[in-house]
Amino acid sequence: MTVIYNRVALIGLGLIASSMYWAIKRHGIAHDVTGFARTVETRETARTIGLCDHVYETPQEAARDADLVVLCVPVGAMGAVAKDISGVLKAGATLSDVGSVKQHVIQSVAEHVPRNVDFIPAHPLAGTEHSGPNAGFAELFENRWCMIVPFADSNACAVTRLRSFWEAMGSKTTTIDAEHHDLVLSVTSHVPHLIAYTMVGVADDLRRITDREVIDYSAAGFRDFTRIAASDPTMWRDIFLTNKDATLEVLGRFTEELFALQRAIRTGNGEHLHDYMTRTRTIRRGIIEAGQDTDAPDFGRGVVKR
Ligand code: NAP
Repeated sequence: MTVIYNRVALIGLGLIASSMYWAIKRHGIAHDVTGFARTVETRETARTIGLCDHVYETPQEAARDADLVVLCVPVGAMGAVAKDISGVLKAGATLSDVGSVKQHVIQSVAEHVPRNVDFIPAHPLAGTEHSGPNAGFAELFENRWCMIVPFADSNACAVTRLRSFWEAMGSKTTTIDAEHHDLVLSVTSHVPHLIAYTMVGVADDLRRITDREVIDYSAAGFRDFTRIAASDPTMWRDIFLTNKDATLEVLGRFTEELFALQRAIRTGNGEHLHDYMTRTRTIRRGIIEAGQDTDAPDFGRGVVKR
């Protein structure tokens, strides 16, 4: 139990903020955690389940006196929320965020940060397809990377403290620059989500085969697509619109590869297909060796009971 910040404010109380709250409490990382959610419904839920020591109706009340303020709203809402709280941020406080896109968050938030506040963006690479205040759990960040995105002139002590905060919640931390972050995440997360949304959309369009059959006979591949495609629409709309350049760049490369595979199938080029899939298999092995997933069959799900 090491207290890293006296008071932490969580602005937005969904999956990520609620997981942070439970992790902060489990590990004793802050004395006091305040929270803000914009809707009455989310505030009521938070109060009912004991999410946050104090739940406020305005972001200003939640952020006032906090040593660390973390913006946990969709990427497209970060700038407006930062503007709302800029007048109440305490001198010497750290302002951070958990947004999945970094260049856009920096562009929209930085202009509202007072000179005596350290703005240090961050992104925990942890999540599920569930959202809202009930979705969080204390273990979400365990053994997951949290990318910290400091600037060249960031206060080194504040950066170290923020890293300690994420490490205390179980994360591994690293630093990365915003542009590179957005490119890496477009490959590892953003475009894969877009492809999953597309595949499920295609199945939905082909109603002749999807009526019950896609549900009743769904095989592992399609099931995994549907899980990803169940992710929060607001969050993902914002990610695609704000990480536009990297998403389009990677999508362009994806389309080229897809055409090459399409051609190999049409021309019966089994060697190309076999070589391609041998190469991709090693990526999966690398992910398992890095401890980022289980090698149990079907992701360790076991038998699905009906
Ligand atoms: P979430 O469960 O959908 O929660 C979002 C929260 O933001 C809710 O409290 C919601 O309030 C609030 N909100 C939405 N629009 C708002 C607006 N315009 N102004 C003020 N508050 C607003 O989302 P999440 O999964 O925790 O994601 C939060 C952030 O973490 C996003 O930036 C996302 O990119 C990032 N992130 C997500 C994941 C993931 O897998 N989910 C992983 C890493 C990072 P109400 O409930 O009152 O509507």
